[in-house]
Amino acid sequence: TMQLSSLLSRFAEPETLKMAKLGRELRAKGVDVIDLSLGEPDFDTPEHIKEAAKKAIDDNWSHYTPVAGYADLREAVCVKFKRDNNLEYKPENIVVSTGAKQSLANVILALVDEGDEVIIPTPYWVTYSELVKIARGKVVEVHTTTEAGFKLTPAQLEKAITPKTKAFLFSSPCNPSGAVYTKAELEALAVVFRKHPGIVILSDEIYEYINFTGKHESIAQFSDLKDRVVIINGLSKGFAMTGWRLGYIAANPEIAKACEKLQGQFTSGTNSIAQKSAVVALTADLTPSFDMVKEFTARRERTLQLVKAIPGLKCFEPQGAFYIFPDVSYYYGKSDGTTKITNSADFSMYLLNTAHVSSVMGDAFGEPACVRFSFANSMGNIEKAWARIKDALARLK
Ligand code: PLP
Repeated sequence: TMQLSSLLSRFAEPETLKMAKLGRELRAKGVDVIDLSLGEPDFDTPEHIKEAAKKAIDDNWSHYTPVAGYADLREAVCVKFKRDNNLEYKPENIVVSTGAKQSLANVILALVDEGDEVIIPTPYWVTYSELVKIARGKVVEVHTTTEAGFKLTPAQLEKAITPKTKAFLFSSPCNPSGAVYTKAELEALAVVFRKHPGIVILSDEIYEYINFTGKHESIAQFSDLKDRVVIINGLSKGFAMTGWRLGYIAANPEIAKACEKLQGQFTSGTNSIAQKSAVVALTADLTPSFDMVKEFTARRERTLQLVKAIPGLKCFEPQGAFYIFPDVSYYYGKSDGTTKITNSADFSMYLLNTAHVSSVMGDAFGEPACVRFSFANSMGNIEKAWARIKDALARLK
């Protein structure tokens, strides 16, 4: 067999993509699988953005772009930050990448050396820990609970910090929990960060628009911290553009330059057509995005009703993003006579095989008691999926 690099053994493939693949395999065998595993809007990209892409092709935007993104796009990102977040950035702060995933990879590789610690509150998006491992850094998980609304407290943060702490990485709205930090909660964390000026704060805000309970708040609003906050965002979720692969960061020029240098060797930047379309997406009227959010709001309501009607599922009410992340540990130790459920992976596989609904085990997010279900699916599929889940769980004794 081939001797592959040791890098490959340091990290895992995304559990989210693995579940989607298992679901597709079952479906290929003719099974009617409902996919609640994937993290993407089921909507089409808004028309005006598609028109911009067609025009970009006709206008021959077909050459290599600047590595950090077209100048007009980096300007558009600055306009977006001013409009949505009241944050002042200049194009030199902005690097556009092949999705927020590459933005995160760039930033982590630009900052983290062997042995550096990165504090990540659980539950967290699967990719965070693996990117830190790729960089040979050390993941420091800090456990947040359903009872605490899946939010990190200042005391927990303070306790996790050591002289080796290089960065803090979190998302708000959070994938998978749906937690959304308020301004007051961010301010309380900011008090701790002020005591530790060496720590870089990586703030993943990709679910910014998908917020059901209030206003999006960025930790970059605290002007004394802004220079060491890196905001990660992108078009995938808010504009239903996952396949277009467009993400971006706002960071101090030193970090931005470092990301540009890495990207110059990895990808040379994201594709020209997506970039030209992104200028339109970011500067045009946001009504199509907020129409999607309205639909997610209705699905969230319905999902909560359905989940609450199932015994044993302890449910945190998501405030943002499009997932529900119930604590399912009530079922651990139970069996339907043939399959015994001992952990979140068993639970997820049991639902896939018996209810034909795919989900993602909480272990992948650093939270073994929970399982993630998306509500980015049609209302009909949501109804059907939860009815099947209810039946399947009723068989566990
Ligand atoms: N950050 C979070 C929290 C996500 O859930 C995702 C996608 O699932 C991403 C980043 C990456 O998004 P993309 O690479 O599609 O821009």
